Amino acid sequence: MNIQEYKGIFVFAEQVDGVVSNVTYELLGKGRELAETLGTEVTAVLMGCKVEGLARRLAEYGTDRIILADAPELETYMTETYAHALTAVLTTYKPDIMLYGATAIGRDLAPRVSARIHTGLTADCTGLEIQDGTNNLMMTRPAFGGNIMATILCPEHRPQMATVRPGVMKRREPVKDACCAVERFHVENLSEHRNVEIVDIIKRVSERMDILDARVLVSGGRGMGSPENFRLLEDLARELGGTVSASRAAVDAGWRDKECQVGQTGKTVRPNLYIACGISGAIQHLAGMEESDIIIAVNKDESAPIFDVADYGVIGDACKIVPLLTDAVKRIRAERA
Ligand code: FAD
Repeated sequence: MNIQEYKGIFVFAEQVDGVVSNVTYELLGKGRELAETLGTEVTAVLMGCKVEGLARRLAEYGTDRIILADAPELETYMTETYAHALTAVLTTYKPDIMLYGATAIGRDLAPRVSARIHTGLTADCTGLEIQDGTNNLMMTRPAFGGNIMATILCPEHRPQMATVRPGVMKRREPVKDACCAVERFHVENLSEHRNVEIVDIIKRVSERMDILDARVLVSGGRGMGSPENFRLLEDLARELGGTVSASRAAVDAGWRDKECQVGQTGKTVRPNLYIACGISGAIQHLAGMEESDIIIAVNKDESAPIFDVADYGVIGDACKIVPLLTDAVKRIRAERA
């Protein structure tokens, strides 16, 4: 393989039902940063059916070019058709770096493509940098249960591929009315790769706000003592216009759904305010929330590691302190009304 032939940074622009996933915009922001270091361009690979209308928004978030594979066979994500189409794109354009969101789709697609084009893939990266001197991509991810950070290189194969979890990279401010070139890419023999028929799609409807979208998260851990005590957290979250998240211990105990879990094996969140109640602050939990703008910790153990990352700390019983916080917020709002 002549790695000098491989140029540019590609981002898989994941869309479902015509809506581009947030992680795509985050990856475009990181891609632009890497492209500036390498003096190259950022390209988004957009696949679907009648999705050209999404190009403008991708341009606003920093893509220089879009490669559009638009076909009825790509309307709904299917492993075989998408893996075939993306493999064709990558063998044609030969990018240096290819980034995917570590979503259900990205985690399914990226390993299959990496096997087909015979290159490496680093999953769940939390850091991406260019190595001085070699211009190789340094892909950093937690290893050994989050106790060390491993930096992985793929020096002999191209493209260098990574998945990145939603919420880890910061998206750039969009540039209004930015535009970019759209290149249509025809994928040969797509229908032959359609080996599954989707009969019906049943979506799970959740009434709760996704913790990735919340500006305020009131998070509970094992220290809350019981699922009933999570109501106290819900009351506070409601007053603050936020929602409730949880540590893995609380999820494993069956007190909250897995989709509310913050941390290394849950979601990475960056709210304006994160209130950690009865959470010790294990490294795997911190990995998912330490980038929050303001962190308040409530814990009865003054030596709990959560206080090391907290901007404000309250030492005491969360079941007594949280209702006081809720009352204080109510009072302040009433005074301001
Ligand atoms: P504990 O560690 O038991 O802490 C409870 C805290 O509550 C203590 O600090 C205690 O002082 C305090 N407390 C007790 N009673 C009260 C009270 N009445 N009022 C106030 N404070 C009180 N964890 C995650 O959260 N997310 C992950 O994604 C995740 N991924 C992991 C991945 C791997 C590979 C591994 C090995 C572990 C992972 N963990 C994860 C688990 C993590 O190591 C911790 O075990 C977990 O975060 C502990 O949850 P906790 O803080 O709720 O419970």
